[in-house]
Formats: sequence, C-alpha cells, structure tokens
Amino acid sequence: MNNWLRIGHEWLLPRQCLLCRGAASGIDLCPGCRRALPRIENPCQGCGTPLRSGRRCAPCIQHPPPFDRVRIPYLYADPVNALIHALKFRRRLAAASVLGSLLGAHLKDSGLFPPQWIVPVPLHPKRQRERGFNQSMEIARPLSACLKVPIAPRLARRTRPTVAQSSLQGADSRRRNVRGAFSAETRTAQTAAHVAIVDDVVTTGATVIALALALKSAGVTRIELWSIARASEP
Ligand SMILES: [Zn+2]
Ligand SMILES: [Zn+2]
Repeated sequence: MNNWLRIGHEWLLPRQCLLCRGAASGIDLCPGCRRALPRIENPCQGCGTPLRSGRRCAPCIQHPPPFDRVRIPYLYADPVNALIHALKFRRRLAAASVLGSLLGAHLKDSGLFPPQWIVPVPLHPKRQRERGFNQSMEIARPLSACLKVPIAPRLARRTRPTVAQSSLQGADSRRRNVRGAFSAETRTAQTAAHVAIVDDVVTTGATVIALALALKSAGVTRIELWSIARASEP
C-alpha cells in the first residue's frame, strides 16, 4: 500500500490500542503501552530467565538446555499476560499479530541470524480441535512475514495428549508430563541445519526442551528458542 493510501485507510479506520483503546501506531498498540511492556534486561543465555548478574542461571550451568540461542523479550507480567490471555482464551487474533510483531522487532534489534524454518510448538490434534487454533502458530504467522523466514510445514508433531502445563505444580511433574510427547519427521529434520522454536510463553521450559530434544534426535543441528514472554518458576 502506498503512503497516501495508507494514510487514507488509517483515517477511515483509525487503529486502536488493544490495551487502552487509545490511538495506535503501526501495530495495534499505542506508543505509551508499548514503552510500558515489562522488558527483560539481563536474560540468562540458556533459558531467558531474568538475572541480576552473570550470563547463565545456576540450573542452566548444571544442565545446559538444548538451545543454541534464546530470545524472549518480556516478562510474563502485566500487560503482556493480558495480550496472551486475549489470544488464548478469548480468541483475539489481533493480539497474535501484535505479539508476533513485537517479537519480530526484538529479534531484528538483537541481531538476527535467520534460521531456515520457524517451528511453532505443535498442539495435539485433539487440543487443537477443542481450541480451534494453535496460539504459537498464530504468533508465528506475523513473525514469519516480518522476518521472511518460512514456517516449517510438518516438521514436528505432538504424538500424545498432555494435560495443560499450567495445571501442574513444580518442574518435575511438568517435565514428566511432556517427556517424549513430541516427534519430528526425520527426513525433513535432516535437511534442517537451523530452526527456531516459537512458543507464546515459557515457564519451566519443559515443553520447549522436550520439543528441542525431539528435533535434535531427528537430526536438526542448531535450535533457537523464541518466545514473547518468560514466566517466573511456579
Ligand atoms: Zn495503549
Ligand atoms: Zn537459565
């Protein structure tokens, strides 16, 4: 769309901030709400958790996660959690476009080495039917358009249903819940030198670690983790 057409379009249909209903610019957030998002200033290089000092948290030093690079711009706190909730539980797909664009902007700002594919965390087909969509896929779509990196078509699947991680207490039970829950298509994986897993929010990391291990054992060599928000451990 050329500039005059875009200005005309915005004048006819002014964009509203999804959070405060003020005037939005570019993506559907106003500059004030965008500035107020809770950034993670010093993330752990292994899992993205916020650190007071140093480059890796103690658990990541003891058991290095299977990620070659982690990019998570925000804390799972107000108002990022409101945007994720709006997408997941109220089907506000406009929130996915905001979240995907924010993640894309962060990746460009922090030095992007474009992967071959984006791999949204797959839902089990039963869960996807119930929800009607996969929130990670909805965030991955605008991200893919913004970065010009394609989404891997059928590289990974969730092979057994799991209970919602949010219903489980503690890292051990979350790890057991998703262990072996993913599989990757070997023939495709062997042609994938470098992929980026996309999830909406990372809590203990159990889900994305299980997916990364499945991708690695199928032959993917380099795996990044991209997510919009990092929750603190329960
Ligand atoms: Zn606003
Ligand atoms: Zn860590």
